[in-house]
Parts: sequence; structure tokens; C-alpha cells
Amino acid sequence: YSAKRLGAGFAVYDQEQDPYSTERLALLSELNSAVRRNELVVHYQPRVRLADGALVGFEALVRWEHPRLGLLPPGRFIPLAELSDVIRPLTLCVLGQALAQQRVWASKGTPVRMSVNLSARHLLDDACPEQVERLLKTHGADPKMLELEITESALIADPERANATVARLRALGVQLAVDDFGTGYSSLSHLKRLPLHALKIDVSFVSHMLTRREDRVIVESTIALAHNLGLSVVAEGIEDEATLAALRASGCDEGQGFHVARPMDAEAATRWIAK
Ligand code: C2E
Ligand code: MG
Ligand code: MG
Ligand code: MG
Repeated sequence: YSAKRLGAGFAVYDQEQDPYSTERLALLSELNSAVRRNELVVHYQPRVRLADGALVGFEALVRWEHPRLGLLPPGRFIPLAELSDVIRPLTLCVLGQALAQQRVWASKGTPVRMSVNLSARHLLDDACPEQVERLLKTHGADPKMLELEITESALIADPERANATVARLRALGVQLAVDDFGTGYSSLSHLKRLPLHALKIDVSFVSHMLTRREDRVIVESTIALAHNLGLSVVAEGIEDEATLAALRASGCDEGQGFHVARPMDAEAATRWIAK
């Protein structure tokens, strides 16, 4: 990852891609205290049912309110956090905030499913299911209303351990979705054996599906595959009405994207619900 390939044998150092660059290591060392000082804020992106546009839930997406650098997107620090154990307290912090917000919305008459991203490193941690269970209890949350998003790569890194944790999470009653579907290398026979609820089609296929035939084929095949496996299918990255209409016509169940709404802080999301 520290070098960008330039064809056979050639590579240039690329600081942007290097998780061990000095700048990145400095950020990583600040992350632990960021979690303790509550510098992590959660933004919420609505997920809607495509048939009628009804709100079904929100995805919790973390940002870092960095004292010097301003609001950092997860792409700047999640890959770093995943190199160390800080990803665990970070995830639990996001999960706690998201469940607290879910409870506030439910108390105002809007029960919504909350989706939270779980990293591979955390999924492979034996303590993960108990930590999730404890937070569900703390916030009086209904496990059915929590969905954990797991990437394909997380499921195949160490399939046996991943399967064991997935089974324990499932036993808690939480929903499980495969995130960024199509970008990893999971075998379908492996996915078939997991107790999943949904596949999320990656932004990279959805955003060009109307202009790139191959992307459209991938999107439509994924919808058929998911339904044949008894799973629900969610499109990420819906950026215009035409794409939304095409997905709806193809039978895609749910979707999210800038066309529906961008991720928003809790206050803006509350206003979005009201209108
Ligand atoms: P993801 O889980 O696949 O989340 C979807 C990403 O697509 C989000 O980027 C979202 O803002 C973006 N997106 C939504 N609609 C559109 C659209 O219409 N067009 C395009 N081009 N993009 C759209 P974001 O918030 O920057 O998050 C990036 C990634 O960071 C997430 O991808 C997820 O893998 C990771 N991430 C975010 N929050 C957390 C977290 O709390 N824990 C962990 N482990 N990872 C997180
Ligand atoms: Mg996600
Ligand atoms: Mg995704
Ligand atoms: Mg992603």
C-alpha cells in the first residue's frame, strides 16, 4: 500500500497511501485521547425503501472533530485506527452514540433501524459480541433495530473466527449486512452459510450504473443473487433520480445516497425527519 503501481516493476512512494507516514502516525497517536475527549461525532445518513421512499433507518458514519485540523472524514483515520486496538473503543463510542440517538428519535415517535460499521479487527475480537450486548442493554435498544455492517474482506480474513463471532452476534438478535458488496473477494458459497440479512451494493457500481453497462450488470446480478439467497439488498451511492428509478425498477429493496440525503449531524437529521 505504500507504493502506487506504475505498471510492471515500477512504483512511487505515495504518502497519501502510506499508513506509516509521520503525519499519519501522529494522528494515530492522537486517536486514543480523541475517543476519551469525545472528539468523535456521528453523522447519520437516511436509508429509504425504494418502493415508496419511506424512511427505514440511518447509517451512523463517524467524523473526527480534530482540534487543529477541523472535521476529518473517516477515510482519514479509520484505516489508521484499524492498524491498532483503538478501533475497538472507537467503534464502541460510535455504537453508543448511535443507540442513544436512536432512542431519542424513537421517543419522539420515529423508530428507525440504526446501521453501524464494524471493522474486521473488531469482528475478530472474542469480546465483541458481549460488548455489543452490553451497549444494547445500557441503551434499552431492541436488537432487531440494530444492523451491523461488515465488509466482505472482514469475513474472509479469518473465516472461522469471523463465522463464530457472526453467529454470536446473530444470536443476540441483531441484523447483519455485508457492506461494499462486490469489492471484496468473498466466495458466494461462504456468504451463503452466514446468517446475513442484507447485501449493500458498493457506491462504485451504483454511481455509474446508467452509463457503464458492466456496472449495471453487476448491480442487477447482485439484486437477483441477494433475493435468491433470501437477503434484502441495499444500494449505496444513489446520486440522482434516474438511478433511483432504475434501481426501483430492478427490484432493489432499499437505498441511500446524496440524492436522498447526505450524512448529517444529529440536529440536521432530526430536522430532515420532521420535513
Ligand atoms: P461505508 O460504510 O460504505 O459508507 C458509505 C460511504 O459512502 C460514506 O462515506 C457516505 O458518506 C458515502 N456516500 C453516501 N452516499 C453517497 C453518494 O451518493 N455518493 C458517493 N460518492 N458517496 C456516498 P464516509 O462517511 O466518508 O465513510 C467512508 C467509510 O468509512 C465507510 O464506508 C466505512 O467503511 C468507514 N466508516 C465510517 N464510519 C465508520 C465507523 O464508525 N466505523 C468503522 N469501522 N468504519 C466507518
Ligand atoms: Mg457502511
Ligand atoms: Mg459501503
Ligand atoms: Mg465503503
